[in-house]
Amino acid sequence: MDTTQEREIIRVDSAGFCWGVKRAVDMAEELSESGQRRVYTDGPLIHNKQMMAKLTASNIKEVGDYQSKSEVELDTNDASAVMLVRAHGIAPERREYLKSLGLKFKDATCPDVGIIAGKLKLHAKKGFSAVIFGNPDHPEVIGLLGYTAGRGYAVQTKEDVDQLPDLGDQICMVSQTTMFVDDYNALAAYLKERFPSVVVLDTICGATKERQTDVLKLVEQGIEAVVVIGGKHSANTVKLVSLVERYGRPAFHIETTADLDCAALRKYNKIGVTAGASTPNFIIDSVYEALKAL
Ligand code: SF4
Repeated sequence: MDTTQEREIIRVDSAGFCWGVKRAVDMAEELSESGQRRVYTDGPLIHNKQMMAKLTASNIKEVGDYQSKSEVELDTNDASAVMLVRAHGIAPERREYLKSLGLKFKDATCPDVGIIAGKLKLHAKKGFSAVIFGNPDHPEVIGLLGYTAGRGYAVQTKEDVDQLPDLGDQICMVSQTTMFVDDYNALAAYLKERFPSVVVLDTICGATKERQTDVLKLVEQGIEAVVVIGGKHSANTVKLVSLVERYGRPAFHIETTADLDCAALRKYNKIGVTAGASTPNFIIDSVYEALKAL
């Protein structure tokens, strides 16, 4: 953690790109060869407007939709153009569809998501049903459901668990990679009451756990408020905001330095800074400098 002397500003090490997002962005930039080649991404590569604008300038273009469900419209016949899968991953049917477009095909699915898909596939082959703790509208969950042989169910609450059909005694449970660890454990315990044989797999990714642990560390250091940087629609950023609030600290959710409420922040002498997995370093740096200058 990096701290300054006067008003204390503590920037956590886990702020910003996780390794899966960094890998996807690096792949896209490398494939575009400094803008020489068109790279299509199946939905927004990352949930950050400023970074998307930067990528667009490098000839990296989002097609399709956020959930990777709709047909994509290509605006070039350039034989060298590439279709790139995002870090969230996609369902097998979507993979077939994208490959059928006839472009070069590259896959930036985060290996942590790929491992979950592999486990679901394996369990589905053995006849297991799958319960996925996560948002059914999130592309990662939509993609993972595609590996459950039609026996997958996304749940977010106890009520969702209550509404599950009788799944027999071959059931596995996984979590979307960016969920809260405590919430997952609690819902897994609840599911176990109804289906005692459920196999619960630990699938919240290391980067997410680290980000959540760093918020707790800030609280333990006596932080008075936390600035959380990231897109308003970035699910993991919104989760960080709610985690800070769960610990009873005010959270300032901003996208860029321009959103800083300096008057409100001047009331605090110890301010933490964290950021979602899609927030580029250049934005975090600029917010950090602005906070030091409060
Ligand atoms: S949040 Fe975790 S699973 Fe998702 S891209 Fe980042 S490292 Fe991979």
